[in-house]
Amino acid sequence: MEPYGSSKWPDPDPPRPHFLPPAADPPEPPAPRPPIKHSSIAAILFFLGILGLVCAGAFFGGELQQFLYGSSETQSQPVRPGLAPFGQRDDPLPGQEEADAPLGAPPPVVHPSSSYKFLAVKEDGTPLAYSPCRPIHYVVNSDIAPASWQALVERAVQQASWATGLKFIYDGPSSEIPSPNRSGYQPERYGDRWAPVLISWSTPEQVPRLTGQTVGLGGSSSIGLSNGYKAYVTGTVSLDAPQFADIVDTPNGDEIGVAVIMHELGHLVGLDHVDDPRQLMFGQASWVRQYAAGDLTGLAKLGAGPCSKDF
Ligand SMILES: [Zn+2]
Repeated sequence: MEPYGSSKWPDPDPPRPHFLPPAADPPEPPAPRPPIKHSSIAAILFFLGILGLVCAGAFFGGELQQFLYGSSETQSQPVRPGLAPFGQRDDPLPGQEEADAPLGAPPPVVHPSSSYKFLAVKEDGTPLAYSPCRPIHYVVNSDIAPASWQALVERAVQQASWATGLKFIYDGPSSEIPSPNRSGYQPERYGDRWAPVLISWSTPEQVPRLTGQTVGLGGSSSIGLSNGYKAYVTGTVSLDAPQFADIVDTPNGDEIGVAVIMHELGHLVGLDHVDDPRQLMFGQASWVRQYAAGDLTGLAKLGAGPCSKDF
């Protein structure tokens, strides 16, 4: 997904959150994958019930890096958040809703598998993840969604929450349109907190990366503290409304729609594509409808990240 507007994001002085500095040892770039086929065969298979799930996954690594590493522009915010009054700072008061212990836990991994990949790995080798000690709030822009959207989102979120142990809270509808420059702090719209995750049905005109066969995009943005703590704070899942409508109109269309959202939520919490067609995080058309062994192994690790009250 698109990185959030780096120039709008806060970079307060330590020890408050700021953009992650350029890393000397950047994460290994995603393995090259064959280009996504836009063939009529794929379209036919799609209507036979194959999950026509095509993400711009190849773009994820680079874009996420661009966000994580920020730019020189992002390093200049002088105001320490939490010290300036509301309305005069660029990120929320730290520690909101952060509990002393994780709110949930991923289930035991029954079938461990190495068939998963993280979008970003920290210097200590653990994956970049959301804090499990605070809920992930989300809003939905369903203006052009299919009528059944709410049940589909609820089912997908339930599965992602179960697999990670992360707690998700639906905050209701939003009229926000996804943007490549989306700010992670929008107090006028969402109050004094990190902006919630935005799940939206969009058009390729609104989200150019949905052009072509790409049904959805998902990903998150992160902060870093001077003590080395890093975590995702918000993100987006953008679904191609016209293509998604075609999906749910097919036999078993609801199942496929749920799987598409689950795949994007996998990206949201930190999973990258894998080249294994048995996994839901496979980046091309697939029959898979549920998180499989590799997905579940990775999601469990993403639900076991560290907590912090400092952001
Ligand atoms: Zn994907």
